[in-house]
Amino acid sequence: MVRIFHHRAKCIGCNACVEADKSRWRMSRKDGKSNLVGGVDNKGIYRAEAEDEEYSHLIKAAKNCPVKIITIEKQK
Ligand code: SF4
Repeated sequence: MVRIFHHRAKCIGCNACVEADKSRWRMSRKDGKSNLVGGVDNKGIYRAEAEDEEYSHLIKAAKNCPVKIITIEKQK
């Protein structure tokens, strides 16, 4: 199991996460920021869980984010 955290308020809408992982990230037409698919809002930090198979894509999205607002944690 993998946990994903997205500090959405700080998103600059660059699209890099979507390019890295289209199944998990979508650009919002409303405000131009990215949305974490399946994410649940907790005071501005969106959180979701994913299977281990997604890990490499998720890490790529996190590394590509220029403002470093995506955090990926692998659970044991
Ligand atoms: S890579 Fe980071 S700043 Fe760019 S759209 Fe995704 S979350 Fe926002």
